[in-house]
Amino acid sequence: MLALPRCFTNDLMASDAPVSPAVEFLSLLPQELRQLILQQGWPAYRADQLRNWVYQRLIPAPAEMTTFSVADRGRLAGLLDFAAGKTVRRQTSVDGTEKLLIEWPDRAGGAGAMAETVLIPDDARRTACVSSQVGCPVGCRFCASGMKGLQGNLSAGQIVEQIFWLNTLLKPAGERITNVVFMGMGEPMANYANVMKAIRILHDPGCFNVGARRITVSTVGVPQRIIELAGEELPVNLAISLHAPNEPLRKQLIPWAEHFSLDDILGAAQVYFDRTGREITLEYILLAGVNDRQEHARELARVCKRLRANVNLIYYNEVEGIEFRRPASADVLAFQQTLRAAGVNAHIRKSRGREIDAACGQLRRKHEDAEQEPGAENVERDT
Ligand code: SF4
Repeated sequence: MLALPRCFTNDLMASDAPVSPAVEFLSLLPQELRQLILQQGWPAYRADQLRNWVYQRLIPAPAEMTTFSVADRGRLAGLLDFAAGKTVRRQTSVDGTEKLLIEWPDRAGGAGAMAETVLIPDDARRTACVSSQVGCPVGCRFCASGMKGLQGNLSAGQIVEQIFWLNTLLKPAGERITNVVFMGMGEPMANYANVMKAIRILHDPGCFNVGARRITVSTVGVPQRIIELAGEELPVNLAISLHAPNEPLRKQLIPWAEHFSLDDILGAAQVYFDRTGREITLEYILLAGVNDRQEHARELARVCKRLRANVNLIYYNEVEGIEFRRPASADVLAFQQTLRAAGVNAHIRKSRGREIDAACGQLRRKHEDAEQEPGAENVERDT
């Protein structure tokens, strides 16, 4: 097993530090908030009141927190930073999928760091697809997020904040985010500490109370981190973005495949399954003429059976400037059929929000292009 790539080191941490002196509220676990409140000379129940305002009522403005005196509201405003991100773009799909581009003025990646987050309604489920980083270090050849590399890690609070803003969209209907998938911009395992802290905050009953089994961490596969995750005693779902059933093709599509062999990734996934009892899901984006042939389906079936893993087949969403193409439906169905005939549980993931730049990283990219060429694009602004 090779050493972790350089972006796993602490080099990025300096840029993660908030410029604002206020403490990021959404980065605090309940016990940390309690400690902070006690240090201020307030009684501990004030921490519960704050969590009630933010997580239950979705009110992030101290001025509206009327259980605090006017003087204390002023103190809160200087002490805590409740939700500093602004939605700079919002797109709504005809199928109900909502995509937000959130910008933080003075956080990860320097001024104007942005991350995409998506709300996917599906029957009773309200799934948040969140970003873990600004940009992505992995650089998959077919992905818009990886095109400019990595700009920085998101803090735990910035990850939780994505769910906060999506919940505000759901609030009028009396609904909440029920499921969280780490499948937006970034590689969660390359921002492991912040992602794990965010998961603990999201999962806490005093915060957003999302069940661990309703949280999915999706990774291109970092064996050391997968084994660490297996020891966290949080039975989250693990999804491995495989996208190719053999090493040579994987290396062509995912530059990071140079660092970790398929064997090591599958071995770590086996450890995860053995320790947690959670079935592994393999994510497989089908690229026309590249990885969607019958021989690939047969090879993939062998990998799945070794791991007893499920497969999610995903239609590629085309990205301007990237040469890969979406496969024909007949080819996708035939691919699924071959997997099923081999005894593999294979689903075709519904294509959601296609007309709103559904592939991750596209909205941010369009926004940045439009900022460079004012007037070049007319997309709804929310702020
Ligand atoms: Fe990163 Fe995922 Fe895009 Fe690959 S597909 S570059 S891992 S965001």
